[in-house]
Amino acid sequence: MNILILGGGGREHALAWATLQNPKCDKLIVAPGNAGIAWIATCATLDIEDGGAVAEFAGEHAVDLVIVGPEAPLAAGVTDRLREAGILVFGPSAAAARLEASKAFTKEICAAVGAPTAAWARFDDAAAARAHVSATGAPIVVKADGLAAGKGVIVAETTEEALGAIDAMFGGDFGAAGAEVVIEECMTGEEASFFVLVDGETCLPIGTAQDHKRIGEGDTGPNTGGMGAYSPAPVMTPEVEARALEEIVRPTMAEMARRGMPYSGVLYVGLMIEDGAPRLVEYNVRFGDPECQVLMMRLGGQAFDLIHACAEGRLSEAQVNWADDHAMTVVLAAEGYPGAYRKGSVIGGLEALPEDGSRMTFHAGTASDDGRIVAAGGRVLNCTARGATLAEAQSRAYALVDAIDWPEGICRRDIGWRALG
Ligand code: ATP
Repeated sequence: MNILILGGGGREHALAWATLQNPKCDKLIVAPGNAGIAWIATCATLDIEDGGAVAEFAGEHAVDLVIVGPEAPLAAGVTDRLREAGILVFGPSAAAARLEASKAFTKEICAAVGAPTAAWARFDDAAAARAHVSATGAPIVVKADGLAAGKGVIVAETTEEALGAIDAMFGGDFGAAGAEVVIEECMTGEEASFFVLVDGETCLPIGTAQDHKRIGEGDTGPNTGGMGAYSPAPVMTPEVEARALEEIVRPTMAEMARRGMPYSGVLYVGLMIEDGAPRLVEYNVRFGDPECQVLMMRLGGQAFDLIHACAEGRLSEAQVNWADDHAMTVVLAAEGYPGAYRKGSVIGGLEALPEDGSRMTFHAGTASDDGRIVAAGGRVLNCTARGATLAEAQSRAYALVDAIDWPEGICRRDIGWRALG
């Protein structure tokens, strides 16, 4: 098969790596890709949010399946254009992608099916939102309704902080995403991510993970896109997973189908778990980055069979062959990230890194410059490894980190601390 992957981060490098292990893959193109992806696949320049341009490119290159990595092309309706053109695609329609693009939409679906989530209210004017916060008190969570690259959520410890967030959102700090605001009860417990493939109504779980959002060790400092992850998440016991499927995921997917917008693709289910009871924090309509890296490391070449079956609506016949293993990824970022950081520093030692079915350094923000690999983004590399235990996966992932010669790079040294105790 000829396969086109849209995106150019660590998530897409991991998807490309897993796809290439599958004998079904004859030719792989990634748009736009990055310097690491260019070592294993053809990279193409393409406006991946322009559905017409993607469909034309796929037609010209006889592409049999398009895999969409990031959320922006999904929200922009790229999968709809591809389906209209008769091209097989992995990813939800723009209508179904509202599960990520509108927090109020997701909350309404949860209410319709009784899925457990935080108590909430939606507001389209500041005065009513302020009155709600003053009446409810803190802690409380204030969210811009739309996509805000992970920055539109304020977990406010005080009423003043919540009121400030409301003013900022209605004041235009988040553009159109903040025209409506959702205010939620602050849930307590442990967070985990649960990944489920869905082809309409059939739901197939493909793994769990835990991310590390903060820049600093011990989960301190500002939020980032994610500084590391591991899979599986110990808090996601078989009982919690079964409850999340039955109480949250399946009812949501049935309701989406009932409303004429069946979901197709991977559903990222963000959960808060307390006393064995899962509650929904959020849905994302694509793989997480860096969670995708640990899922792909564990699934290997079968990941492509599952994605292909999902795109063709054959999930009821598919199954996951689990190894009793663990995976971890450690993110190397440019010094200064998530604030201002420098681009262009040279990264050495990458060619000599061990790469096999259980160790891989996925590239995120990298570029080639005169034959050298240089940093070209905030999050730059994902050192990823598998092991029989999480401790083994951790020591193998950090062995990769330590073999990289990049003085301007930083990473957290405590990825996995919660699970490893
Ligand atoms: P991201 O893209 O970073 O996942 P997002 O903009 O989609 O963020 P959410 O996932 O809804 O936003 O919220 C971000 C984080 O805020 C969550 O991972 C969680 O830690 C915290 N959070 C969100 N809602 C609540 C809540 N109701 N109670 C407690 N914490 C919450």
